[in-house]
Amino acid sequence: MGLISKAGIALSTFRQSGVSGVIRRFGKSQRLQWYRWRGQRLNYRLGWRTKRPILVIESDDWGSEHIPGPKAIEKMKEMGLFLSDSHGMFDSLETADDIDKLCDILNSHKDGDGNPAVMTANFIMANPDYVAIRESNYSSFTAKPIYSGWNHEPDAKTMLQKYREGINCGVIVPQLHGMLHFCPDVWMENLCRGDPETLKAFDLQMIGEKEDAAGIGIQSMSPIYHGSGQAIRQLVREGIETFRSCFNIDSFTTIAPCYCWRSDETEQALLACGIRAMQGKEYQYLPDGSVRPHYIGQRGPGGILYMVRNCVLEPISAGTTVEQCISQIEWAFQHSLPAVLCSHRTNYTSRVATEVRDKGLAVLDGVLKQVKEKFGDVEFLSSDKLALRILSERQTDNLV
Ligand SMILES: [Zn+2]
Repeated sequence: MGLISKAGIALSTFRQSGVSGVIRRFGKSQRLQWYRWRGQRLNYRLGWRTKRPILVIESDDWGSEHIPGPKAIEKMKEMGLFLSDSHGMFDSLETADDIDKLCDILNSHKDGDGNPAVMTANFIMANPDYVAIRESNYSSFTAKPIYSGWNHEPDAKTMLQKYREGINCGVIVPQLHGMLHFCPDVWMENLCRGDPETLKAFDLQMIGEKEDAAGIGIQSMSPIYHGSGQAIRQLVREGIETFRSCFNIDSFTTIAPCYCWRSDETEQALLACGIRAMQGKEYQYLPDGSVRPHYIGQRGPGGILYMVRNCVLEPISAGTTVEQCISQIEWAFQHSLPAVLCSHRTNYTSRVATEVRDKGLAVLDGVLKQVKEKFGDVEFLSSDKLALRILSERQTDNLV
């Protein structure tokens, strides 16, 4: 894997907009709350309906390195580096044991057809190659695809084997999140110009968070689909090809990092590579700083299918309880909508703190148990299967 294309990710656009730009422009909570409410109304009115209670668990950021472990957090605190929130504090690369424990819990719950609970694990396909970048004296970016291992995990062979075991048991379905979860141009520019915070984080093998004026980390978890033309096509193609090399399958759906993508060129590039559906929230961030609501079953300009997460299962980053999640699932089923749970990897990883992972797993276990008790005919589906079902029923939908 060579260099990631730098040509089309417009720095000025990124700095002016991006997710933090959107939040600044619209106000941190009120406007986004309004878009969420509008998206929920749209889903209620127009969303794809099903008689069967369908439960989908969508989980992002698998494969991505973030915090190496508790020592790195201590050093960050000593150095005065910015740590964004509970998501940033605990988000670390999964371990083989994490995958084992997650798969055991999923496999212990069967739906009305006797199939195990399944988690759609959306993967980031590469991380920075810190050694190569340092050897270049920060002059060029090199990506380290996950099939060749991680900076924080020497035993890549065991990890890939664990993913495959979960896939073969039917409890993990990998899909593409993106080639990277940060904007390499911005990061490399900060390294090149000797930005002290970014260099200190680099020494800990982290992207690091640069806090912007709104108090939001803008570096380690950044939108990537800001470019256009060849740059977007290359980024998408690299992600798809690396995904195929890892899992020997194609990804049918995707979720854009930070829910930010272009409706024209990003979707065209994804469709050209075989992606047919986009997972997402009730709204999409656009690179120009605007926000667009979506409903499940809606089709984009080029025909891509939008799917919408309408429930939250984030026990670590958002404090979701079993009761809160179950109440959202009940609402979805009462309105004949599939319950699509948003649940990031940070809830199920242990490198920073084992008790954090155990708490996340316990809440997942409790939700699955109660769902089965309340809805005996529940059907556990992965995102690609849900997309296929919607597409097979709604061939002629148009964009609102
Ligand atoms: Zn993500």
